[in-house]
Amino acid sequence: MISDAKTKFEGTALGAFRAGLRGEAYAPGEEGYDGARSAWNLAVHQEPALVVMAEDAADVLAAVRFARARGLGVGVMATGHGVGAACDGGVLINTSRMRGVSVDPGSRTARVEAGAKWSDVVPEIQKFGLAGLVGSTTDVGVVGYTMGGGFGWLGRRYGLNSGTMREAEVVTATGELIRASAHENADLFWGLKGGGGNFGIVTSLELDLYPLETVYGGNLFYGLERAREVLNLYREWAETLPDEMSTAVAFLNFPPIPELPEPLRGGSFVAVRGCYCGDSPEEGEDLLRPVREGLGEPVVDAFGVMPYAAMDSISMDPVDPIGACQSAEMLRDLTPEAVDALVEVAGAGSPLIMLEIRQLGGALSRVPGHLSPLGRGEARYSMNGVGAAFSPEMVRGVRAYLARLAEETRPHQTGETYVNFMEGDDASEERVRAAYPPEDWERLVALKDRYDGENLFRFNRNIAPSPARDGEAAPGAGRRG
Ligand SMILES: Cc1cc2nc3c(=O)[nH]c(=O)nc-3n(C[C@H](O)[C@H](O)[C@H](O)COP(=O)(O)OP(=O)(O)OC[C@H]3O[C@@H](n4cnc5c(N)ncnc54)[C@H](O)[C@@H]3O)c2cc1C
Repeated sequence: MISDAKTKFEGTALGAFRAGLRGEAYAPGEEGYDGARSAWNLAVHQEPALVVMAEDAADVLAAVRFARARGLGVGVMATGHGVGAACDGGVLINTSRMRGVSVDPGSRTARVEAGAKWSDVVPEIQKFGLAGLVGSTTDVGVVGYTMGGGFGWLGRRYGLNSGTMREAEVVTATGELIRASAHENADLFWGLKGGGGNFGIVTSLELDLYPLETVYGGNLFYGLERAREVLNLYREWAETLPDEMSTAVAFLNFPPIPELPEPLRGGSFVAVRGCYCGDSPEEGEDLLRPVREGLGEPVVDAFGVMPYAAMDSISMDPVDPIGACQSAEMLRDLTPEAVDALVEVAGAGSPLIMLEIRQLGGALSRVPGHLSPLGRGEARYSMNGVGAAFSPEMVRGVRAYLARLAEETRPHQTGETYVNFMEGDDASEERVRAAYPPEDWERLVALKDRYDGENLFRFNRNIAPSPARDGEAAPGAGRRG
């Protein structure tokens, strides 16, 4: 037996399991365990009974069967950008070695393995002038992102990335590797398009791609003292835009780090950000003109024509691991009253690195027949606050501030949230439920009953099975700090 593991495995069974893997398995105290369980988000701490570094779908299958046979829950992590509930005492399947990407330019599709990040995919698809519906950073895992819907700077034109799924290979709670598509296990396929990975472990996905090599995007940074004026003009402007233009307005408190150019380093700003992905990037410049002319000289004008592969520069998300907490609400609209509330609470003295209000609409709200991880489509904007949190005190401080932000903007919210922008303490059952329209929620719970009635896959943004079949409560929040 492994003496210092909280859950003790019989030595022979663990040895046989290890011998059958292409990858490795680490128990607590073993060399390799800490690296394998660590998340990108340094505020997440998890103590799995075993971490499996999977090399392929067969390893994932073996790990699920091993856990199931011992009554242990299963968690999956590709990068650790979005841990909903810490995998304490379960079997954590780390897919970060499963990074394969293959592209079929003829059908304009890519097949990606469970651990591939967008940064693995983008160079391969751009060889053929094709683009996928990346989010704000290519550092997140494609599968995890897609399981929650996934939207970014191409969203208003092309929609959620979950809508581009053609087929998935999935390891189920019963320990089988099956395919899901519109023609095969169609009910499961529906649930994979935004159900937060609750129904199985996806070992690979096939996704549709779009021809796109160049966009017009960037940021206009203004001093924070101009926030009210900037937000009011932004809202009027945003309402006039075609779907080819996705935009956001963000309150930003930059750290004093040398990577940032001097006017931005250590400063507080409000930024109008956007990306035009229509046929001619120059049209994007025309569309931006009312903001440039209406607001006059910004502190920095960083808009321009850029390769699709450089789009990370629009959001400037951190790549190196950080400790962070975030929470999102959906705003009905960005009325002058909503702007006042936002400026009041986020205008000065906010501890957040970023409070971003993203414009929705366009193809994001046209999801007929699909699972909608953006709620009923009544929200015109999402509001996502992110704070740095490197200690339990910082976690508490950021959470308290996010709660205040939610409270003070309550009259402007639809009551919905977005499943991908929720993690840790924020990923309670109530919050996960708020990410879906009620009719989708009922269907999701029924699907969970059917595919994972014992809630094997519980270390996530959890959809628990029906209470009648649920032996234990949903795990609720992940452990922090
Ligand atoms: C800096 C930053 C920027 C972001 N920007 C955006 C954005 O622009 N748009 C957007 O929509 N989201 C965005 N997100 C949210 C992000 O897409 C989600 O947190 C997503 O779940 C991360 O997936 P991951 O695999 O990288 O993370 P992980 O923490 O490894 O996985 C997160 C969850 O995804 C599920 N999952 C992962 N792999 C699998 C699998 N193989 N099978 C089944 N389920 C799986 C599991 O539930 C897992 O707990 C951002 C997050 C961060 C931290």
